[in-house]
Formats: sequence, C-alpha cells, structure tokens
Amino acid sequence: MKVMKFGGSSVKDAEKIQHVIDIARRAASSEPVVLVFSAMKGITDMLIDAATSAEKGDPAYRRLVEEIRSRQKEAIAALFSRKESESTAKEIDTLLDELSDILHGVELVRECSARTLDMVMSFGERINCRLIAEYLSVSGTPAQFVDARSMIVTDSSHGSAKVDFEATYPLIRQTLSGMEGIPVVTGFIARTEKGVTTTLGRNGSDYTASLIGAALDADRVEIWTDVDGVLSADPRLVQSAFVLPEISIEDAMELSYFGAEVIHPYTMIPAVDRNIAIYIKNTLNPAAPGTRIAAEAQGGSAPITGIASIENVSLINIEGGGMLGHPGVASRVFSALADASVNIIMISQASSEHSICMVCREKEASRAVAALKTELADELRYRMIQNIELVKELEIIAVVGENMRGTPGISGRLFSALGQAGINVLAIAQGSSERNISFVIHRDDRASALNVVHKAFLEDAE
Ligand code: ASP
Ligand code: MG
Repeated sequence: MKVMKFGGSSVKDAEKIQHVIDIARRAASSEPVVLVFSAMKGITDMLIDAATSAEKGDPAYRRLVEEIRSRQKEAIAALFSRKESESTAKEIDTLLDELSDILHGVELVRECSARTLDMVMSFGERINCRLIAEYLSVSGTPAQFVDARSMIVTDSSHGSAKVDFEATYPLIRQTLSGMEGIPVVTGFIARTEKGVTTTLGRNGSDYTASLIGAALDADRVEIWTDVDGVLSADPRLVQSAFVLPEISIEDAMELSYFGAEVIHPYTMIPAVDRNIAIYIKNTLNPAAPGTRIAAEAQGGSAPITGIASIENVSLINIEGGGMLGHPGVASRVFSALADASVNIIMISQASSEHSICMVCREKEASRAVAALKTELADELRYRMIQNIELVKELEIIAVVGENMRGTPGISGRLFSALGQAGINVLAIAQGSSERNISFVIHRDDRASALNVVHKAFLEDAE
C-alpha cells in the first residue's frame, strides 16, 4: 500500500481538487492508498491573520472567516450537484461557526495563546478533508474522513509539537487498518495525550504522511507538490538546475533544512525508522518519475548532491582577546541567545579563539545583539571583548552531498571557484559529517555564487 500526500497548492480550488482526486483514484485502482491533505492554499495563513486580528480586537477577522466560507462554498458548488452539496455545506458551515465562536472568544479576552492558535489553524485541514472525503464518496469512490487527532499524539509544544512515536504508531494502525473506503486524513494536526489540539509545524502535512507510512509499513510515501522533485539548486536562480532522480535520506534532510522547500525536514525521521522510501511527485506532471529519497539511494557520480541557500540572514561577530583560554564564553553566548528565542543557523570559531561568529535570521538579529550586549556587559566594559559586530543583508549557501565524505579537494575547488568569480566569503562552516559545507556571502552575490558552484560541481564533466 502507499500513502499519498497533497499539499495546499494542489488543492487550491475545485479544479485542482478534481485533478488530484483523479490521480489518487487511479492509484487506488491498483493498490490500497491512504490520502493526506493540507488545508487549501493560503487558508492557514488566513487563519493566523484572523487570530492575530481578533487578539487585537480588530473585527477584520470576521471578514477573513467569511472569505474562507465563500472559498469553500465555491468549491462545493463546483464539485457537487445541488442535492449532494447540502449536507457537506452544512457540515462545513457548522465548523466555520465553531471557528467564529473561538475567534470571538479571542477578541473578548484579547489573547491568543499558542494553544488557541493551534486550535484555530486546525480548521483548515479539517474543513478541506471533510470536503474531499465527501466528494470522493459522492463521485463513486467510498472514502472516510479521518481526523489525525484520533491517532497522532504529541507533547504540548504548541506550534511545532513533538511526536510520541510509541503512542502514535499503534493508534494509526488501529484507526486505519481495515477501514472501509479510502481514508482521507488531515495533515498537520495532532493532539496531546490529554486531547488538546496541537500542530506539527508549518508544512507539517508531509510529516503526517510519513508517520502514517511508517506505522502501516507502507511500500512508499508520495509527497505530491507542483515541482518535478528535489532540484540540484533553486531553478529560479540557477537555470541549469535539474531534478535529482535519487537521494539519500541524509542529503534530503540537509537540503530541506537549508531551504530546499520541497519537503518538511522531519518527514524523513519515520522513514529512517522503518526504511520506507519517499517520492516527491508533481501533480502538474504526474508521469514524471520525481525524486526518490531512500536510505540506500545511490547519489549521482558528481562530488556533491545539491546546493541550498537561506536568504535574509545576519552575521554576528564577537571579537576580543579576552576570550582566549576562557571556558564558558561560548556557553553563555548560546544560552543568552536561546533565552532571547534566537535561532542560530550556523556557527564558526577560529582556533585562535579570538572571535566567535554565528548566523541568524535577519529579523532576529537586533534582538540577538541586544541580548549579547546585556550578557557580555562586563566583558565589554573591561575590554575582554572588543566588539559585537552585526553584518546584515547576507545569505548562507550550503553545498550538500554524501559523496563529499572523505573526498579531498572539495573545499579547494569550491573556494577557488568562488574566488575566481570575485565572490567574497565572510564565514565558513563544515560539520564533521562532511556532508555539508556552508558559507556566508553578501546577498547581492547570491545568484552568481549559486551558479558558479553549480557549474563547478554539477555541470562540468568530471
Ligand atoms: N496547512 C499547513 C501549513 O500551511 C500545513 C501544510 O500545508 O503542510 O503550514
Ligand atoms: Mg509543503
């Protein structure tokens, strides 16, 4: 059997829904399938906006709910006959009324906790999957709506909850095995042990699909999107980027952490657990083979697999002779940043210990510097640390690939290619896994750096 997940852009409107249902139905005629859907494109963002407005006491949230209602109505009118549509429309109306009540509560108390926001966001997937299950059934393919909250158990870190695998796997098996009709499961949402609604993080529906695949020991998990697969680089910036036919799970994780937006990085965790292959497929081009992600996947013969990048980052450089041989500075730096909820993407410290540099998202940078100035106030005063420098408008580029391990000369080639193109590198990091070399450049050099590296490793004949 296989699990097929369709993302928001694949179910944007009635026409798209019809198209993906055709794909799913064709698959279901030859083997059992479980379907996982996200909310319709843009709905999760609208729900977040609605919650934010309600919290501020701004009545705009009402308009947003009505906009969601009319998008659903449009889809229902296009997909169902008049008579069939009644009960579906009613169910969805009831859900939207409940959503309005919750948002009204948020407006009254002027507060929307992460817990309430999870509840608000859950409506996107719940509404969409009801509609799709109903549509499948009335159009001749028996299907069952499945609320993932009946089977995916998490901790209570709202917004990005951690899955309790031991509790979840048996529940998935109990709920889905032997189910009459095709299960249509809500992606993204889950619950705590006590039954409180949680979510798995933005784009978390991919993760839902692989959890189900692992629990049911599926032959494959297919993530359907609107690109042909995982690409060697961002095709908007690198014209010669190509689809990677096969990549290892580790490379897929590295690439997805570094901004190759095709797949949620956690998706690979259950797949490793149970050794299940994940396929990235394109709804706009269903015949294309896509990318296969699997533990034993054979990468290409090129020294690297692909290039990913993260834009809008800043570099913070802490410099000073007083750090030399003083244990504990790094620990204080990282604790202070963690307390300020700053996420560090990259770190490097030269062995002279004269400076530590780290990279974070631009929007967190001034908060980060303020936290560091407070934490290191004494060191700054006594000149143990000379300066906390912030450099903005940067970009991280990560060169990723299993084949780099133990292959000498990769960095040499990488940095001489960049040097020849006149690109200045501000910081470099390579983990000991040797699967990723990351470097920081100025934002303006982004396209040229990506192309230079792509050409050096993936285009020129070996
Ligand atoms: N609907 C959720 C989001 O927009 C989950 C998903 O699309 O996978 O993040
Ligand atoms: Mg996605």
